Amino acid sequence: MFQEIQAARADVLARIAAAAKGAGRDPASVELVAVSKVQPEERIEAMLAAGQRVYGENRVQEAEARWAGRRAAYPDLELRLIGPLQSNKAKEAVELFDVIETLDREKLAGALADACAKAGRVPRLYVQVNTGEEEQKAGVAPLDADAFIAKVRGEFRFVVEGLMCIPPADEPAGPHFALLAKIAKRNGVAMLSMGMSADYETAVMFGATSVRVGSALFGARG
Ligand SMILES: *Cc1c(COP(=O)(O)O)cnc(C)c1O
Repeated sequence: MFQEIQAARADVLARIAAAAKGAGRDPASVELVAVSKVQPEERIEAMLAAGQRVYGENRVQEAEARWAGRRAAYPDLELRLIGPLQSNKAKEAVELFDVIETLDREKLAGALADACAKAGRVPRLYVQVNTGEEEQKAGVAPLDADAFIAKVRGEFRFVVEGLMCIPPADEPAGPHFALLAKIAKRNGVAMLSMGMSADYETAVMFGATSVRVGSALFGARG
């Protein structure tokens, strides 16, 4: 198991580096976020042994069960919430995650602000943009993004570290990545979380500063 996981991680890192170089970018400017949701413990252990320290999770409770007990053993662990967050879970999310990538509405911004004040801790924040304007998908609509980012900064006093998107599954991802990069640029937002197993090299070409890769690293989810 360890060798398999180590080889998969080395392969993904090499592909990220090649895509970055091809785009004239420093490979070190792209962070690999290993999406560990639903993966069995033995694969997580192997990934940790391979040296991976940045992980993405979709659900607060699942992440808590998997990671809270590992903080002491891995002080350099970085946990990112990449799934939708309900306002009533803001407190748990603020306490557990280093980065929350799915801020997409005012009510949630308010809940996070309250939770941060109580916890005395502010996770790094990304605004999720629903670039494909899909009804079932979370994220602020592209046309509302500028106003929402301004509100998050002005009213809630948060730093917006980056933007995040999940393109529609049945469309080429490139135009969605380009749109996210454009919204980030005109708002002075530095970081871009985009690209998954099927399209992370494309995302790097379009400027991703972090890619969220699950199955290409761990194998298929059960
Ligand atoms: C599950 C998930 C991923 C990883 O997907 P893979 O296709 O397995 O790489 C990335 N981002 C988000 C938001 C996800 O929910």
